Amino acid sequence: MTAATHTPRVFSGIKPSGGLTLGNYLGAIKRFVDMQGQDYETIYCVVDLHAITVWQDPAELKNATREVAAGFIASGIDPTKSILFNQASVPQHAELGWIFNCVARMGWMNRMTQFKDKAGKNAEKVSLGLYAYPSLMAADILLYHATHVPVGEDQKQHVELTRDIASKFNNDFKTENFFPMCEPIIEGPATRVMNLRDGSKKMSKSGESDMERINMTDDADTIAKKFKKAKTDPEPLPESLDGLSERPEARNLVNIYAALADITNEAVIGEFGGEGWGKFKPALADLAVEKLAPISTEMKRLMDDPAEIDRILLQGADRAKEIAEPILQQTYDIVGLLRPSR
Ligand code: ATP
Ligand code: MG
Repeated sequence: MTAATHTPRVFSGIKPSGGLTLGNYLGAIKRFVDMQGQDYETIYCVVDLHAITVWQDPAELKNATREVAAGFIASGIDPTKSILFNQASVPQHAELGWIFNCVARMGWMNRMTQFKDKAGKNAEKVSLGLYAYPSLMAADILLYHATHVPVGEDQKQHVELTRDIASKFNNDFKTENFFPMCEPIIEGPATRVMNLRDGSKKMSKSGESDMERINMTDDADTIAKKFKKAKTDPEPLPESLDGLSERPEARNLVNIYAALADITNEAVIGEFGGEGWGKFKPALADLAVEKLAPISTEMKRLMDDPAEIDRILLQGADRAKEIAEPILQQTYDIVGLLRPSR
């Protein structure tokens, strides 16, 4: 099978490692929704096995998994149009992850910047899982022979590693194009939403302070307060986009506005160029509330019925397994491992 003949298929996931942020929404979920119903099969996963690479309170984790699923559905992922499930329900991910641990090279893993960022000075004390995480992510994608992977900018290196693993596997076992060369899809004005208190850092679920991020479930007052306190410089917004190049915090807020309003950065500058923060920040907060409030209301409604979310995830897992199992079985066969088909 050549790369061109692989079925166009989208795979992406989000970890239940805390509450969903505006970064997750704009950089990932909103774009997952856009790709649904185009000419792809779409597979979206709550990647709980990735979440436990750092400590997760067992009493919270199942709830966090359901909450990410609720966030997907409330944002417009339709479980009848997309396959939606949690990773732990499809054991084939972990099985292929082990094979890829034996394909990926130490040198490749040592170059992963996310590991360096997350481990920081503590590299001796973090889990082996955190280090091996990118080969499990490659398994998540390649288990479905996915061809397109919508992600935020921070995941680009991991998708490139996935291609390296696919390519080495195909070469080592002389199975040309068995695993496709998947493409990262990193598009739009908000591929890297920055921390509201430090424009040099990405906004993250697991970041230290709640003030540095907008959570998808924040209420209107909280959103207004967080934008009001967001770090900026004293200058008004520039009259042209060039004026944002050395102003990371200002640029970030313009990017967020553009992504929420579905307009270009130029259009935002066209509307607000020359205005001060006293005008722009409240407009941004109003826009964020307008877009997020219906989603968070729907998330809360869904979370009132956890059994229904579990049912949706289980149905999704059954559909995921139908695609994954034959691909995994073939992979074991190619490698020369005995494994009865399940
Ligand atoms: P954690 O802090 O636990 O790593 P996270 O907020 O980075 O959480 P992930 O589950 O790691 O979220 O990532 C899920 C998806 O959201 C990925 O596609 C990632 O690229 C995207 N994403 C995460 N943060 C941002 C951001 N600040 N801007 C744009 N996209 C983002
Ligand atoms: Mg992350």
